[in-house]
Amino acid sequence: MEKLEILEGRKKQVFEKNKETETFDIKCETTSLSGSVSQRACVFCGSRVVLYPVADALHVVHGPIGCAAYTWDIRGAVSSGPELHRLSFSTDLKEMDVIYGGEKKLYKSLLELIDQYEPKAAFIYSTCIIGLIGDDIDAVCKKVSEEKGIPVLPVHSEGFKGTKKDGYKAACDALMKIVGTGSTEGIGKYSINILGEFNLAGEAWIIKDYYEQMGIEVVSTMTGDGRVDDIRRSHGASLNIVQCSGSMVRLAKTMEEKYGIPYLRVSYFGIEDMSKALYDVASHFSDNPEILQAAKKVVSREVGELYPQLLEFRKALDGKKAAIYVGGAFKAFSLIKALDSLGMDVVLAGSQTGNKDDYEGLKGMCDEGTIIVDDSNPVELSKFILEKEVDLLIGGVKERPIAYKLGVSFCDHNHERKIPLAGFIGMYNFAKEVYESVMSPVWQFAPRKGGLS
Ligand code: SF4
Repeated sequence: MEKLEILEGRKKQVFEKNKETETFDIKCETTSLSGSVSQRACVFCGSRVVLYPVADALHVVHGPIGCAAYTWDIRGAVSSGPELHRLSFSTDLKEMDVIYGGEKKLYKSLLELIDQYEPKAAFIYSTCIIGLIGDDIDAVCKKVSEEKGIPVLPVHSEGFKGTKKDGYKAACDALMKIVGTGSTEGIGKYSINILGEFNLAGEAWIIKDYYEQMGIEVVSTMTGDGRVDDIRRSHGASLNIVQCSGSMVRLAKTMEEKYGIPYLRVSYFGIEDMSKALYDVASHFSDNPEILQAAKKVVSREVGELYPQLLEFRKALDGKKAAIYVGGAFKAFSLIKALDSLGMDVVLAGSQTGNKDDYEGLKGMCDEGTIIVDDSNPVELSKFILEKEVDLLIGGVKERPIAYKLGVSFCDHNHERKIPLAGFIGMYNFAKEVYESVMSPVWQFAPRKGGLS
């Protein structure tokens, strides 16, 4: 295999942990280097993935058809009711619209779509070209909202204006426009909102069920199986629980400032973090000891069932090497713990959107020799996988071909997946998938590629 090099301008975003390294100053939270084929999505895609699971809202992509096609049905987020989110509408801007402006087209499209689908709200996404031609989507949204009597929310997500993280911010700002507009009547004291949980393959239902078994009322999930009316009254909850912190901490912080609702950061992946997510909520409501008792009951029942099964997988996986490259670094923390419980060693941990604190945390958790990387590209990932003789890559749809081309097993832990990996049952599914991929007989016929020259 030809020599694989790290681009000069990328070297500060790559760090290898070793005893001699005294300072840790990884570069992150910056735009991608030109010429480095980043695995990141654009700003628009960032906001689209966050808002997509709001199932009774209309999602209109204002721009050329390619932007809509790129993000059509982008998540495995399921709904227990309406499925309007699974349709992707676009104003399909053409050359003449770019010259003369697309506002009239957007206005007419919205009137037609709202009449036909009767949504509870509409999200209107700006794409790159809108940032260039300067359509005033705020004015169009305001006009349509007044005429149709529903919230019509501009999402300022012009693709070029930053990183995927700026898209998360745009999505949170759009959500914040409807939070606080509904009645909080009937919401009890022991109530939460679940933020940053997107109901992939029904994961939000699993998590919600655990909390409900503890006597906790879930006012809204944002945005998995999301409903506009629930989001409107979410300011009545006593606590926000934030999982995907990269995408939703901004919303939690804004709700704390505006409504005084505290928030907790949690993860639902792996036994340790899932248990902690339940106990942390129980501790918050410490004036009611029954909640803690119920949490203990849920954890001991679920762990009691799961643990013997994990030991079986561990027998085969013990000592295998894993590489993690995910969107948010917080997920990487949970994956390191989950892989450790399967006896596996993490030799590469990276993310698209981590910040300095995240990477500092990863460094603390990882063994000597582990590579920590921010905003990587396929060449770098291939190089690290080969150098570290990785047995398993965990990533998303864009990382899958890298693993398979190198003859390395793969586990999809991104938003397209169709099986739940959150919760205790999710840990079982994760261990099973890792086991089946690493131990698959197919690797006899597609052996791992050789080392670097
Ligand atoms: S918003 Fe811009 S970068 Fe994103 S898909 Fe559309 S054209 Fe591409």
